[in-house]
Amino acid sequence: MSRRLLVLGYHNIEPTCGFPGSTPERARRNFARQARFLRRWTNVVPLRAALADLAEGRPLPPRAVALTFDDGYLDNVTVAAPVLHAAGLPASFFLVPGFLSGSAPVWWEQLGWAFTHATTTEIRWNGDRHDTSSPPARRHSAWAVGDTLKLLDSGDRLAAVAELRQRLAPEGPPPGRQFMDWDEAGELLRLGHEIESHTCAHPILSREGREGQAHELAGSRRELADHFRRPVDVLAYPNGRAQDYSDETVRLAREAGYAFALTTHGWLAGRRSAPLEIPRVLVDAETDLRQLLQRAAHVAGRAVTKVARR
Ligand SMILES: [Zn+2]
Repeated sequence: MSRRLLVLGYHNIEPTCGFPGSTPERARRNFARQARFLRRWTNVVPLRAALADLAEGRPLPPRAVALTFDDGYLDNVTVAAPVLHAAGLPASFFLVPGFLSGSAPVWWEQLGWAFTHATTTEIRWNGDRHDTSSPPARRHSAWAVGDTLKLLDSGDRLAAVAELRQRLAPEGPPPGRQFMDWDEAGELLRLGHEIESHTCAHPILSREGREGQAHELAGSRRELADHFRRPVDVLAYPNGRAQDYSDETVRLAREAGYAFALTTHGWLAGRRSAPLEIPRVLVDAETDLRQLLQRAAHVAGRAVTKVARR
């Protein structure tokens, strides 16, 4: 039995302009291979129950892993869910009501599309020159510029994306629909998965004021719970790095009624993990899960040794 949980965080499966990768076919094949690997070598447990077990000191099965998917990409329903269902693996989907309704812009996909289809060979942004003369250069520049936008609040970030779009002068067909809608999300529940909250419109919470954060946290929880008639007790902080949420965010998440919240830093969750700062490891269809599990075992081994030495 184990007192550690490895929480894996996926986004999209197939590559997008915002999260580029190899090809859709390769990504689908790799994800199916990952599901077979997880089924054979780990015990995939439902996240919410596993976090409650850990918090209350109940042991988990050995090599316990929980699967999470953020943002509500359409391929979570069309690609991931059938593969998970066939393998009998439960997952938790962290959804954004504004993306489900199509009312909130997905700034990183807009930015990724503008860079991918740029007709300029370079742009200047914040005093830096960014090469846009080739596909790899455009990917690198999109990543670098996107990182600077994470320092802004939502309003300034959207204005910056509009400005960048003008300067990049992109040409080409817009992407097809990339995010699931409310009905498609309901399909995930029917397959036995869980739906949790990833805020109303995916701001980076530490960049927002108190009121805005409180609305994003409480509003998304209420909207998802009301629509699906299920409790929503777990939150994933957008972007999730230590600098993307604050002590105030954690306090507001508690006030909004969340029992647990996931970050995107740290390694394994354990009994001593703060319930509103649960560690999580980001992965995609390209990740070598065997290597990741080996590293996790190493980290867990070190943790056990540390405790034993005390
Ligand atoms: Zn997200």
